[in-house]
Amino acid sequence: MIGLISATAAGAAARDRLATVWPDRTRVYEGPVGDAVRRAFGECEQLVCFLATGATVRLIAPLLADKSADPGVVCVDEAGRHAVALLGGHAGGANELARAVAEALPDCLPVVTTATDAAGAPGLDTLGRPVEGAVAAVSRAMLDGEPVTLAADAVWPLPALPPNVRPNSGGSWTLAITDRLVPQEDGTTAVLRPPSLVVGVGASRGVAADEVLALVEETLTAAGLSVRSVAALTTVTAKADEAGLNEAAERLGVGLRVFPAEELAAVSVPNPSAAPLAAVGTASVAEAAALLAAGPGGRLIVEKRKSAMATCAVARRRPRGRLAVVGLGPGARDLLTPRAADELRRAGVVVGLDQYLDRVRDLVRPGARVLASGLGAEEERARTAVAEARAGHAVALVGSGDAGVYAMASPALAGASDDIDVVGVPGVTAALAAAAVLGAPLGHDHVSISLSDLHTPWEVIERRVRAAASADLVVTFYNPRSRGRDWQLPKALELLAAHRAPDTPVGVVRNASRPDESWALTTLAELDPGTVDMMTVVLVGNSATRTVAGRMVTPRGYRWQA
Ligand code: SAH
Repeated sequence: MIGLISATAAGAAARDRLATVWPDRTRVYEGPVGDAVRRAFGECEQLVCFLATGATVRLIAPLLADKSADPGVVCVDEAGRHAVALLGGHAGGANELARAVAEALPDCLPVVTTATDAAGAPGLDTLGRPVEGAVAAVSRAMLDGEPVTLAADAVWPLPALPPNVRPNSGGSWTLAITDRLVPQEDGTTAVLRPPSLVVGVGASRGVAADEVLALVEETLTAAGLSVRSVAALTTVTAKADEAGLNEAAERLGVGLRVFPAEELAAVSVPNPSAAPLAAVGTASVAEAAALLAAGPGGRLIVEKRKSAMATCAVARRRPRGRLAVVGLGPGARDLLTPRAADELRRAGVVVGLDQYLDRVRDLVRPGARVLASGLGAEEERARTAVAEARAGHAVALVGSGDAGVYAMASPALAGASDDIDVVGVPGVTAALAAAAVLGAPLGHDHVSISLSDLHTPWEVIERRVRAAASADLVVTFYNPRSRGRDWQLPKALELLAAHRAPDTPVGVVRNASRPDESWALTTLAELDPGTVDMMTVVLVGNSATRTVAGRMVTPRGYRWQA
C-alpha cells in the first residue's frame, strides 16, 4: 500500500489525483501531518509526501530503522513539478515510485539521486536476485570505476556490468555470481545469487515444514551451497497439496513444482528405492524431480538425503539465455516504446545493423557488448544473436520499425533452439508511421508488399500485387525502389491501375518520423517514381480512398463500389 500525505490545498489536489489514478494501491492519511506521516510509515510499504523534502526529512528521521525494512519515500513539491525519491531508492522502490508518480501527474519530473542509477549502471540490488556481503562497498567501487573482479560460475542473462567489472581485474574488490558459499569476512566481496538450484523433495503425509526446511538447509550447507540460489522446490503430483511442502516453499520464497509419477519413474537416478514406488508409483521422487525441474543440461549435484519424514536432493540448472527481439520504431526517439528502451537497458549484448545501433547507443548500458554489422549481414547477425543467447547472455537483437516485419526476427527464430527464452517487443513499423503522416489511409483492409526481389522471385511478388489489386486492398509498398531496382515500382503500379481509377490517392513518405521526413500526396496516374527511394514507403489507396482537406482517407463505412 502507498500512503499519501499532504499539508496544503495544492498538495491535496495532487494527492487526490494520485488516489484516483491508483485507487487500489493508495491510502490517504488525513489529520495533522506529523501524525499522518508516522502512521503511514508504520503501515505502508511506500509513502508519497506532498511536502517539502526538509519537512519530510525532519518527520521521518526519528522513524528510520533499517534499509531493508523502511518504506520507500517520495516527496512531491507544492507545484507538483518534481517527484523526489528521498528514501529507499532501491530496496524501498522509491526510484521506481518517483518515476511512476511523475508519469501520473501532469508536467512532473522524477528526481533520482542514488549513485548507481545516476551513472547508468545497474545497482547490484536491482538485478532481481538476492545479493549479500559487501554490497554497498562493491557497488561504490563499481560506480567509481575501480577494478572489480567478476567471479561468475556461469554466464547468466544479467544486464551489462560496467567495464571495470571483469574477470582478473587485479583490484581488491570482488563480485561473485555463484550458488556456492563463499568466505565474506574480509568485507571485499559481494555475492549475487543466481537462480541456479532446484531442490527435489519427498515427504511422508503430515511432514512439518520445519523438518523439510531443516533438511533442505542442512543438505545445502553440507554441500557448500546457498539456500538463496534455490529457484524452486519440486516433488511428485501426489504431494501437491502436502501442507508442509507448500509452507516450506513459501518460506523459501519459491514455488512448489510438481511432476506426475510416470514422468519421474522414467528418469534414471543414482538412488532409486522401493518405498516411494509402493506409495506413489515411482522409485525416485527427490532425485527425479530435481533432475526434471532442472531441465536440459541440468545435473544432480547432491544425491538424496533423508530425515525422519522427508527426502531431498539438489540439481543445478544450466542458465537459459534470453533473446529479446526489439523493434526500435521508425526513427523518432519518442516512437521507440518504453518496453524497447527497457530491453536495451537490460541487455548484456546488443546485436544489430550499425546505423540502427547508432540511434540508441545512449540507451545501452556502459559495458554492454555492442555487435554492429553492416547491411547485408542479416543471416550472420541472426546467428550471432542466437549463439550469444545460447551462451547464456541477455541479448537484444534490434531492428528498425518492427523487428518482425521484413527484418531480423524470422531468421533469428528460424535458427533458434528451445534452450533459450525469447521475448518480442513490437515496434511502430514504417507503414504505420507513414500512414499517420498521410492521414488515415489504412482505415480498411490493407496489405504490405515488399518490392525487393533479392529474396523473393519477381513472379511471386507480381502474383501478390495482382491479388491485392483485384481484392481492392490498400497497399503499402516496402523496399519500393533502389538504384539497381527501378522497374518494379512502375510495374506494380500498373497492375494496381488495371483495377483502380487514375485519380486513386497515393501517398509517398520518405524517412517517416526522422529529422528529414518528407511526404507527398499524389495519384496513381501522376506518381513520379523518381521521388521514391529505399528510405520511402508508397501507400496506394483502394477504390474508396479519398483526399479530404489534403489528407489521405480510406473510409471505414466501406461498400463494394462498381
Ligand atoms: N522492419 C522495418 C522494415 C524494414 S524493410 C519496419 O518495420 O519498418 C526496409 C524498408 O522499410 C525501407 O526500404 C522502406 O521502404 C521502409 N522504411 C523503414 N523505415 C522507414 C521510414 N522511417 N520511413 C519510410 N520508410 C521506411
